[in-house]
Amino acid sequence: MTENLTLSLQAIQQRLRQAEQAAQRPAHSVQLLAVSKTVSADRVRQAFAAGQTAFGENYVQEWLEKQQTLADLAIEWHFIGPLQSNKTRHVAELASWIHSVDRLKIAQRLSEQRPSTLPPLNVCLQVNVSGEASKSGVDPEQALALAQAIATLPKLRLRGLMCIPEAAADEAALAAQFRCLQQLFVELQQHGLTLDTLSMGMSADIELAVAQGATMVRVGSALFGARPSSQREG
Ligand SMILES: *Cc1c(COP(=O)(O)O)cnc(C)c1O
Repeated sequence: MTENLTLSLQAIQQRLRQAEQAAQRPAHSVQLLAVSKTVSADRVRQAFAAGQTAFGENYVQEWLEKQQTLADLAIEWHFIGPLQSNKTRHVAELASWIHSVDRLKIAQRLSEQRPSTLPPLNVCLQVNVSGEASKSGVDPEQALALAQAIATLPKLRLRGLMCIPEAAADEAALAAQFRCLQQLFVELQQHGLTLDTLSMGMSADIELAVAQGATMVRVGSALFGARPSSQREG
């Protein structure tokens, strides 16, 4: 079992190196976040043993159970799912990163609830690049104002932007959505925000995202296998 995960991790790292090279970007400029939603604590432990240290989770309850089981490991937890304001405390106390902030109120709560003994919580703003009304994420036009407000919160460290593109999009439409996030990223930097993280790309579109400037790809099924329900959650 550990061997299988070692092999899939190697295969994904190889995809990343090839994608970096194809995009003429430095080797290891893209980090791998292993998305472990619906994956058992045992399998996460195996992936950790195989060298993966950053894991992303979507559902607070599921994550809390896993986190407890795995408390002996130095895992860097990233929360990447929708977050209700009554659950912010868990993220503030146990996560290193959150990628899915799209409202100031959530950010304020996270900053207030972040224990003073911990370093600031790393934050990516989730941006709705597909324009679908049902999607979470701040509208691109509102992103600068939200980013500037979040950058003033003491216990948060704004690191960058995240997107989940439209599931049905063809390759050209996907690339356009990744490019939209990348351009917004540059625009925010030009306004003086120090951002270093562009969280975009999943199992099926790693190469496309890396070509458009991703610095962190979030990979679930290509690493752990297909999930019970394989639609793109988020
Ligand atoms: C599930 C999920 C992923 C991983 O998707 P795969 O297609 O399994 O790689 C990435 N990001 C978010 C926000 C997710 O919910």
